[in-house]
Amino acid sequence: MELSKLKYTPKRLEILKRLGINDSEEVLRYYPFRYEKYEIMPFKSFKEGERVVFEGEIISSPSSYRYKRNLSIVRFKVLVEDEYELTLTIFNRIWAKMLKINDRLIIIGKYEGERKVTVMNYYSAAKKDMLGIIPVYPLKEGMSQNDIKKIIDFTIKKTDFSELEMIPSEYVKAHGLCSFNEAIRSIHHPQDELSLKKALARLKYEEFLNFYLALELLRGEKSLKMPKVFDIKKIDELISSLEFDLTKDQAKAIKEILDDMQSDKVMYRLLEGDVGSGKTIVAIIALYANYLSGHKGVMMAPTEILAYQHFESLVIALEVLGVRIELLTGSSKDKEGVKKRLKEGDFDIVIGTHALFYEDVKIADVSLIITDEQQRFGVMQRRKLKNKGENSDFLMMSATPIPRTLANTIYGDMDVSIIETMPKERKGCDTFLFSKNDIKPIVSELRAILDKGEQIYVIAAAISKSEMIKAKDVYELEAELKKIFPEVNIGTLHGKMSASEKEVIMKAFYDRKIAILISTTVVEVGVSVKNATAMVVYDADRFGLSQLHQLRGRIQRGNRRGTFYLLSDSKDENTLKRLKTLTMTNDGFKIALEDLKIRGMGDILGTRQSGLPDFILGNIFSDTKIIAAAKEDAKKIAQSTDEKALELKVKILKKASQSYID
Ligand code: ADP
Ligand code: MG
Repeated sequence: MELSKLKYTPKRLEILKRLGINDSEEVLRYYPFRYEKYEIMPFKSFKEGERVVFEGEIISSPSSYRYKRNLSIVRFKVLVEDEYELTLTIFNRIWAKMLKINDRLIIIGKYEGERKVTVMNYYSAAKKDMLGIIPVYPLKEGMSQNDIKKIIDFTIKKTDFSELEMIPSEYVKAHGLCSFNEAIRSIHHPQDELSLKKALARLKYEEFLNFYLALELLRGEKSLKMPKVFDIKKIDELISSLEFDLTKDQAKAIKEILDDMQSDKVMYRLLEGDVGSGKTIVAIIALYANYLSGHKGVMMAPTEILAYQHFESLVIALEVLGVRIELLTGSSKDKEGVKKRLKEGDFDIVIGTHALFYEDVKIADVSLIITDEQQRFGVMQRRKLKNKGENSDFLMMSATPIPRTLANTIYGDMDVSIIETMPKERKGCDTFLFSKNDIKPIVSELRAILDKGEQIYVIAAAISKSEMIKAKDVYELEAELKKIFPEVNIGTLHGKMSASEKEVIMKAFYDRKIAILISTTVVEVGVSVKNATAMVVYDADRFGLSQLHQLRGRIQRGNRRGTFYLLSDSKDENTLKRLKTLTMTNDGFKIALEDLKIRGMGDILGTRQSGLPDFILGNIFSDTKIIAAAKEDAKKIAQSTDEKALELKVKILKKASQSYID
């Protein structure tokens, strides 16, 4: 229901707005993020400095002092367990002086030792039901737990739950789930652990069911297409002309992709492989096969730099074979010329950035679409892309290292190929963590690297000075490093530069005209400069592990061993432990798992930008049974024409189309 229909007070509406809540159902689903257990404790178990909960009878009249307009103290004694006299102090609740001798209270407070308690909350003992499992909600400044609780209780009271029960009853029965009504009441007012558990089970199931149902509905039937016919010998020739042998996994991925292309079903496949695992060549071969079959292909990269690099790789590999390759980015020089050739079909393969799809670019006869580094695209954007080239085969490449089982959970709508083995001659990387955000200890090492003619990346967490982010910024580092290394050229790169400015710098680095490149994470994705063998990351604690691992991938492109320096002033034990993971393993999958444990799925996949659903309660690691059930049921519901199933499907499609807008 719309919020306006519920007649919230203006203050409550303001709170809801600030929490980003748009309708009454979202209020009901504003779940606690943890619970506190309030149980009466025996006095003997009280420990100084800790929270205590007990019942007491007032045995002295409250005395009160007021010492500023809002500051006050109320004090009195209570008798606990008919035996112990405790002195209670209540701050800033002057009305507590109205309490009377013989009143019985439930008190939640902090034990200060020597039979003294500072009261956090108290209730009349008649309200014993306040005890138990107490929800704690996420808040923003200026809101109280009580504000939220009242809003939620008010909403529960005003809600007609019969309309909100979306799961068809046979599934509710089959899994022994509680109703939506019951689940919502229990999650906000759990009677006991069992009822809370049941509520959680129901709501998690619902989350996963909705997710899989969305995938099912959006997938539709696998569309049919004309199978592609190409001469596999020509592809073998290309492969044997490469300067390296394909890894086992590369060969397998290529086979899976070519099989898809030769089939009469449209390909919808995810190619996943850690940074440096060699996904580009797989894409090139797919594009070549597509060309051989007489069709045109599109490859899309998230940045201009990457688009340019792919363009170069394609030219090197395929131009001699007569393939016509075009590049279209926001800053392409002869844009009109390129657009014209694309429209008239006067090309074979085009590489580009988002510009390709969102500007008014017409591309004739596309029949293979490849996107590189998909983490920036969500489910909905994937659909949109796919619909651009109706019935074209679709290959999405990603370096987000998600284990196969999870990939199936998250990308349930796609087939998955994974490259796990790294190219043999990869020399790997040494990683060092320094407990000071300072380059001094490694200056001589860096100089030795420069003396060999190799290049260095320096990564900064900020572009310029800001009060928000306390980190060394690009320009500060530029000034510092120019003093330390006056003998070499130093360049800077960051996301606020125009695409063509970035291009110039990146090109200069590529051509070795710049020895040290100071940059924000814009170099994170896919960029390949083989002669760059070292990277220094300032304020390393500001980055996620997966992100650092991606960055590290930049210096493992050639056949020399890279060196990765993490600098951080952080004294936080957990942070340091987290960063140490990187010094111990170079396995992207392990690192992603570590990261997941700490930061959750959304951070890794960039859920917010990508439009993937956030599982609020569900946990893709531990809820595997619920996931399996939800997945199976989603398939059945997708096929069902029962009234209830239809209703649910409409609702989910509506939600999906909303998130499609951004
Ligand atoms: P990513 O999977 O991160 O996109 P790339 O495709 O950019 O990785 O490959 C990284 C580097 O490894 C490139 O320079 C590429 O030429 C090289 N490479 C790819 N496959 C192999 C292989 N089988 N053996 C050796 N080098 C390879
Ligand atoms: Mg790549």
